[in-house]
Amino acid sequence: MPIRILPDHIASQIAAGEVIERPASVVKELVENALDAGADEITIEIRSAGKRLIAVTDNGSGIPREELGLSVSRHATSKLARAEDLFRIQTLGFRGEALASIGSVSRMAVESRPEGQETGAALRVEGGKLDKVTDQGMPVGTRVTVQDLFYNVPARLKFLKTDTTERRHIEALVTRYALAYPDVRWQLIVDDKPSLETSGNGDRREVLSSMYGVEIAKQMLAVEFEEESYHIHGFISPISLTRSNRREITVFVNGRWVKDASVTAAVIKAYHTLLMVGRYPLVVLFLEIPAEAVDVNVHPAKAEVRFREGDLVFTRTQRAVRWALLAYSPVPDLRPKQLWGSHPSSGGESVDPAGGMSAEIQTDQDAAQTPAQARIHLHTGTAPGDQLPLLRLIGQVAATYLVAEGPDGLYLIDQHAAHERVLFEQLMAQQSQKEVPAQSLLEPVNVTLPPNKARLLEEQLPMLDKLGFQVEPFGPNSYTVRAIPALIVGGDPQAALNVLVEDFEEDETPLGSAIEARITARICKRMAVKGGQILSPEEQAALLRDLEGCESPRTCPHGRPTMIHLSADLLERQFGRRGAR
Ligand code: ADP
Ligand code: MG
Repeated sequence: MPIRILPDHIASQIAAGEVIERPASVVKELVENALDAGADEITIEIRSAGKRLIAVTDNGSGIPREELGLSVSRHATSKLARAEDLFRIQTLGFRGEALASIGSVSRMAVESRPEGQETGAALRVEGGKLDKVTDQGMPVGTRVTVQDLFYNVPARLKFLKTDTTERRHIEALVTRYALAYPDVRWQLIVDDKPSLETSGNGDRREVLSSMYGVEIAKQMLAVEFEEESYHIHGFISPISLTRSNRREITVFVNGRWVKDASVTAAVIKAYHTLLMVGRYPLVVLFLEIPAEAVDVNVHPAKAEVRFREGDLVFTRTQRAVRWALLAYSPVPDLRPKQLWGSHPSSGGESVDPAGGMSAEIQTDQDAAQTPAQARIHLHTGTAPGDQLPLLRLIGQVAATYLVAEGPDGLYLIDQHAAHERVLFEQLMAQQSQKEVPAQSLLEPVNVTLPPNKARLLEEQLPMLDKLGFQVEPFGPNSYTVRAIPALIVGGDPQAALNVLVEDFEEDETPLGSAIEARITARICKRMAVKGGQILSPEEQAALLRDLEGCESPRTCPHGRPTMIHLSADLLERQFGRRGAR
């Protein structure tokens, strides 16, 4: 075949293949157009999951009658004049492709009336063919109706999923845009029934409630982070609220919903050691960064962007999330704990300080505070999903594992990992209360470090103090350790100090709270009882009780499991008792 320039309608269909993948893509493009037009009321109506009908009505600036024809032509846009503008795009659209694409694979009608135009005008497009413009009485704004999507591209139709799935995509899209644009009054009508309605009063938490329900919305923590020209804000779930996949991590960059593996990874990294392996948070994050720092022209459906300073975006996102997380992190248990390694005077229960069981969850006012000011106290008693049932200790195996019985079977617990978790949560709780009990050493320990490490340590002395270490300079490159956190008494202070210095080296300009968590995890690893260490029955029982009190008892701070659970059900099946009766 000779080379030919493709006829326009075929070229449009090919382009449409990239832009319009499914009904939700149509909704996305139309909603973006409405937002670009400055609408503050947007109504989306769908029938049969958008396969039969999608209609988006807005009260935005409208399209002049004489431009209607252009609006549905390819590469026709009012949002971009010069090539340079591509690098400082302030609108959601800029490719001038959406209406043309949609019109080439459906029966579409664009009705519009700009301010100052006496009546509206309408233009119908069917399979890419334009009708003539007609008059149309209507209020100021635009309404685009799309019927029988892909009626002329049967191959595409076959790729569509069930109505339930396609509808879920549309609902997910609209709720996320509603959250990103809380000043707009959104309405989604599914098969003549209202599915989402927002007030447009600018309150994001209100939109969050319509998205996840009031209970979850109440628990979500506010993120508010600013550094140089970066503003990162939004909502993240506390560590007790997770999902088994990362689909609930939503990222908006400059008002644009994008999929970005690196930002998602930064979010997950921020939760590192705080969530069980295989669990993911619910996150809606808005990154506002300079337009010049983002290339939005890398994906036909504008669903991906490229960052000029990818590393900066990554670290700042991670910090923003981590900061919020630690500032609000619940305090699992404030009962005085038995000191590990010291000899317990008795095996009895420790006493609850007054009010120790009260629960006080932050209100919206608290959420508006900066994370450093905000505090949340969530004491034991209310069990988040991951908490352990009460366990009955059976004993120790191989000087490494504890064996216990629960209401639902047998538990094998790795004593080292479990103790790491216990220490970690206790230390983090004390740090967030800004009161880490320090225990003076009977004999202060002198430590001499290589010069580069000594300098690192010197810079971090104030932070060490916060962590419960009292360290004083003592001659060049030497330090005297006078006290260490009471929780780790019995450990080797020299080893603990070395752990700290190692961590400084790895990351020289870390954020306070993020490095605190990491260092704390390291200290706990070093200070926890080891495998192979014989524990007295009292010590075993204390460890088990402390683990029961943990927020995330099932993993160590590094994410490895603390326990293996053999359920009664599994035991029954393994022994062939199931169905034998
Ligand atoms: P783009 O959004 O990339 O410019 P579109 O094909 O989505 O391309 O739209 C083409 C043009 O039609 C827009 O640039 C805009 O001028 C006009 N337009 C489309 N939808 C609307 C709307 N809802 N309100 C006002 N103008 C609109
Ligand atoms: Mg557009």
